[in-house]
This record gives sequence, structure tokens and C-alpha cells, in this order.
Amino acid sequence: MFFLPVLLTLLLPGQLSPPFDHVLIISVDGMRGDALGVWGEEGLPVFHSLWDVGTVNARTDPLHTKTMPNHTGMMTGRLAEGEGGHGWLTNRDDPDGGTLQENLGGALTSFFDVAHSDGVRTYLFGGKGKFDLFTRSWQEVLDVVFVNDLSDIATTEVENGMPLDEALLAPSEEVVDALLERWDPQRRSLVFLHLAAPDGAGHTEGWNLSLDSLYGRALMGTDALVGRVLTHIEGSRGLAGRTALILTSDHGGGAPHRHHDRPELWVDFAIPFLVWIGGDGGGQDLYLLNPQRVEPGILLGDAPIRNSDGANLALALLGLPAIEGSTQNSSQDLRVYPFPAR
Ligand SMILES: [Zn+2]
Repeated sequence: MFFLPVLLTLLLPGQLSPPFDHVLIISVDGMRGDALGVWGEEGLPVFHSLWDVGTVNARTDPLHTKTMPNHTGMMTGRLAEGEGGHGWLTNRDDPDGGTLQENLGGALTSFFDVAHSDGVRTYLFGGKGKFDLFTRSWQEVLDVVFVNDLSDIATTEVENGMPLDEALLAPSEEVVDALLERWDPQRRSLVFLHLAAPDGAGHTEGWNLSLDSLYGRALMGTDALVGRVLTHIEGSRGLAGRTALILTSDHGGGAPHRHHDRPELWVDFAIPFLVWIGGDGGGQDLYLLNPQRVEPGILLGDAPIRNSDGANLALALLGLPAIEGSTQNSSQDLRVYPFPAR
């Protein structure tokens, strides 16, 4: 198989070949897929630069457009309900301090488990306090955890006189600071980074797509924060040229205007799914590379690309097998190259 890297270089100049030493999954909470078009390359330059292959028309869980069921799916490669479902249907942490496994009544393996058992260092950086559920559920396989709380911090900052848009971004800045401080470039890593400001903006003033809206400023501020992460990667000898990145979201928003409670409406279920493999954002269509998936238009779709596909894609990019018990991309056939990633 010696010729494969050479072939890749010929096919996709500037892009890197798997396996990668580091994979970073970024979840931009409340980011609608069409936001990438509305704000364009000028407004969201970093997000666009990450679009080596991707789509603005990926899907959430088919029955849930809330944070917790979708993030559980993104970490386990499962849908919330049905056979093999992860079973976490509420949008809260467990008030009694329980775990996902206790709720399900059985094992619930995550991509952190698979990575950790292969000696890959695992990181969870969360922007909402309820992510403590994930910390407790996978505490034995999570090496580094930092969970912030968007609403607590933003409320305090507004009371202290900070403008609302800056206050919404402040907790995400702390999360990114924590990532850049703690990310060990010398050891293989799987990193989950959750940035919550756009969701906070949407709940405050609506999923308003006018250019200078609070939602837009939160997206642009989040884009700049991801730019800090990219600059860090490119300046680090251990990370540069060895890191792949997946950017997606837990849900969109706007139905109703200040919420995302309508899993049957596209504004809530259509989300981005972008994969950066070291190129410069050529914008290849992920559906064209994956004819086994069907571009769903504005429908829910029968075989769309989902945020929960990212878990087993991340593992494939690290050269690792799929998560035991997972149902989404469990054969790891979601292609980000002209041939399977592993
Ligand atoms: Zn929300």
C-alpha cells in the first residue's frame, strides 16, 4: 500500500492522508447550515477554510433537535431512539447525578472509550454545565475535561456591564483558552470542543439571519475563536500536518423564533458537517463523495449525513475501529477522500 500516499498527493494536493495523530471535533451549538451561505466567506472565513469536504445540509437526530440527545449521539455514534438508541431524550443533565449508562440500563460506549483504549489522549471541552453528564458517564476514559457554563457566566458578565455579544462569547473564550493550554501535541489525541455562543444568542434575540444580528455576531465571534485554534495547530510542531478537524452542530434554530423545538422543520434540523483534512477549503460536496447517502433537500431524508456520523469518522481518521454498539457510520464508509478513510 506504499503507493497510496503518493496517489493521494496527486489527487488532492495540499491535503493530508490518514491516519492522523490528532482529530478535533468542534460542535457549534445552534449553528444552522444556511448560516454558512448567509454570512459567506467574508463573515465566516475560518469555517469556510475548514470546508475541504462537507455539506451545509447534514441532519440532526431525526426525532430530536436539542443539545443533549444530539451531543450524546455525536459521542456514541447512535441515534437517540429506536434499536441501538442511546436513550437520552431530555435536554437536561441528570438531576440525581446519574450516568447515561444507568439511564440506558447497560453499556454505552463512546468514541472516547475506543481512543483511550488505544492510548490516544481524550479531551472534552464543554460550553454548558449540563455536559457534566458526559464527564460522569465516561470519567474513566476522559483524560482532560473542562466544562464551562454559558448562561451563568454570560449573565454575570452582563450584570458587570459587558455588552451582550461579548458576554455570550466570554465562556467560549475560556473554553478555547483551556484547550490551547492543555492540548498535548506530543501524544495522539481525540478532542471534543463545544462552543455555545450562537445558541445563547438565538435564545436571546432569535435565530435572526440579518447580517448584524446578535446571532450573526455570535457566529462571527465563534469563527474567530476557531481561527485561534487553527493558528495554534499550524504553529505547533506536533499538531501541524497531523491534525484533522470535523465541524458540525447539535441543531439549528428559529422554529419557533427563539427556540429549536420543531424536529420536523428544516431550520431546526439542517446543520453543517465540514471536514478539514489539511487543505485550504476547496468546498467538495460530501454527498457527491458518498452516493450511499442521499441529499435530502428540505426533507428529513432517508439516508442523510448526520452529526452522529462524526464519531466513527473521527475514529477512522485516527486509524481506529468503530464504536461497539454504534449504528451511525458504523461501517466507517463515510468518505472524505475518493476512497474510504481507512
Ligand atoms: Zn438551545
